[in-house]
Amino acid sequence: MRATLMYGAGDVRVENVPDPVVSLPTDALVRIAASCICGSDLWPYGSMQPQDRPVRMGHEFIGIVEDIGSEVTTLRRGDLVVAPFAVSDNACPFCREGLHTSCAHPRAGFWGGTGEGGQAEAIRVPLADGTLVKLPVAPDSALLPSLLTLSDVLGTGHHAAVTGGVDERTRVTVIGDGAVGLLAVLAARRLGAERIVLMGRHRARTDLGRAFGATDVVPARGGEGIEQVRELTGGEGTHVVLECVGTRSAYEQALGIVRRGGVVSRVGIPQYEDAPVGFGSLFRHNIRLAGGPAPVRAYIEELMPDILDGTIEPGRVFDAATPLDGIPAGYRDMADRKSLKVLIRP
Ligand SMILES: [Zn+2]
Repeated sequence: MRATLMYGAGDVRVENVPDPVVSLPTDALVRIAASCICGSDLWPYGSMQPQDRPVRMGHEFIGIVEDIGSEVTTLRRGDLVVAPFAVSDNACPFCREGLHTSCAHPRAGFWGGTGEGGQAEAIRVPLADGTLVKLPVAPDSALLPSLLTLSDVLGTGHHAAVTGGVDERTRVTVIGDGAVGLLAVLAARRLGAERIVLMGRHRARTDLGRAFGATDVVPARGGEGIEQVRELTGGEGTHVVLECVGTRSAYEQALGIVRRGGVVSRVGIPQYEDAPVGFGSLFRHNIRLAGGPAPVRAYIEELMPDILDGTIEPGRVFDAATPLDGIPAGYRDMADRKSLKVLIRP
């Protein structure tokens, strides 16, 4: 079959690889109907050092179950399923607490690390009963792009809002106008926030952010951006800052914006280990730090009904689509910010 391999920074290829097969009794084999390129794929695309072997890419997909192992009980051949970006058993103590990205099962983990990737024609899914969720629509449903966001970006934006404690009493700032930032706006609105400041400078994206519920847009960054958000909030800043970028400068921007006693919630993968956490940054005004890899598996049942009944339309983040052969160009367009998020239809 054809699959996407990353060889190093800027070097993504679609190549023939061995067909995946069910190899453990808890596996399923899924024929991929829709997949996509993630903003987080752009980190290795920008900086990955060549390794001994290329890395399989893709951690968001919807597909049709083609085969199952003998111990899979909740799925049948022909089921349409969505996969979260993490493999989990949905049964261990951490999964039962809704923290599927910390699943204790030895075969739990992230796509790519499993040797499998979703930007392909098919995929072997470990721990299929725990990982996959059935979708109650046909494979040609117009809802597929929105349902695909349950794999990562919608659940990740929602996680930022949930761990940040967003509700109808909180004012919120979202840093970042990528797909996760825009869906963090949607999630904050869904949880009741009425004042949502979106920090981003790409007009088409911030317009979509407004459609998702942003009440104010601040294109400036750094000190100027901090000052503008403070001005919008009577000098106080916002109760919650959803940091959806992952750079240290975005973290420092969040510290400048968060209200006394507020929360900085991070879901952008931090590209730094060292950053201020001391007296002047967090401690002095009881600022809390939250966030992490989103346990999107825990949120699918809660978020899916709003997609099915049309209350939310997170699939609007896809502004381009391609078959497998167009994936290298899709990475390029996302890295150049020509595309917000590229849908893959193998
Ligand atoms: Zn688990």
